[in-house]
Amino acid sequence: MAVVEARGISRHFGEVRAVDGVNLATAEGEFLVLLGPSGCGKTTLLRMIAGIEEPTHGDILIDGHVVTHLPPRVRNIAMVFQSYALYPHMTVYKNIAFPLRTRGMDKADIPRKVEWAASMFGIEKLKHRKPRELSGGERQRVALARAVVREPSVFLLDEPLSNLDAKLRASAREELRQFQKRMGFTTIYVTHDQVEAMGLGDRIVVMHQGRIRQVGLPKEIYDSPADTFVATFLGSPPMNLIEHDGIVVGFRPENFLPADRMNGDESVAYPFEITYMEDLGAEKLIYGNIRERTHTGHVVSRLPGNVEAPIEQGRTYPFAALRRDLRFFDIKTGLRTEGSLP
Ligand code: ATP
Repeated sequence: MAVVEARGISRHFGEVRAVDGVNLATAEGEFLVLLGPSGCGKTTLLRMIAGIEEPTHGDILIDGHVVTHLPPRVRNIAMVFQSYALYPHMTVYKNIAFPLRTRGMDKADIPRKVEWAASMFGIEKLKHRKPRELSGGERQRVALARAVVREPSVFLLDEPLSNLDAKLRASAREELRQFQKRMGFTTIYVTHDQVEAMGLGDRIVVMHQGRIRQVGLPKEIYDSPADTFVATFLGSPPMNLIEHDGIVVGFRPENFLPADRMNGDESVAYPFEITYMEDLGAEKLIYGNIRERTHTGHVVSRLPGNVEAPIEQGRTYPFAALRRDLRFFDIKTGLRTEGSLP
């Protein structure tokens, strides 16, 4: 276990500020998720922590020691990439043993360590196969076993689940999370998938254009986004944002419901003109517009699938959100403000 810290870290490629003045510290044994859209600088930040990318400015510290200019092999960090990068001509056993052999571990100790790492991911029976004889999920487990075999103090993962199909991803997520808790490695995990981030992270770091927008517990970030970017990046469908009396008002689709289900005093009602509906079984998504003189916007309501709502496309109904579920954002900067409605 270790604490990883980025102090004023930047990486510029010519005009492109891939990472721009990032300050960040993990807790010991934490599962920290870097979340953001493609190109926001997540991978570049991870590569600087690993030591395979030199920062333009700033420092990387591990357990309080500056390692900015130290090579990757002395940082005791393991990194797993999206592509897994297994050696195709080697068996699973040799792939997992490889980092031990290159570090000159005593030959007699290697089988025991490989056995341990393979059992950690339930791939003992696959040891004699080559990567091409494995499924995507199995390859991913081999890559993880190879990364942990030398018991790093920090584990860096760059979208390791993105090559798996949706069902396998869910089980791999659960496995990874349990493994990480058991081992207690400090883990930094990069993804652009907000569901993965919410499910895996002890904390989430939301990045955009090389900078950090918000750091917090998943629920904190979901419930109290720092700005309109975070509000709309997390959640599917995202937070509704409407313009109301010169301020941006936000509310989650699951908090925007038919007004007769709300207590009038504690809620704000809007006329909701329904344009489209989707019944997804577990939930119903109702799309439409709020079009009044002082408040406008395209919004979505999410109702539990077992609620029978007599709602027709093309008509307008009173919908409402509780005041306590409203969030306010500055119309110019997009930053969260302490607003209120009359
Ligand atoms: P993705 O999810 O698509 O991998 P990311 O958030 O990991 O994206 P990075 O790969 O860190 O983003 O890239 C951040 C920005 O820096 C992008 O605009 C990218 O084009 C640019 N960039 C990254 N590496 C280089 C490089 N070696 N030379 C020039 N530009 C680069």
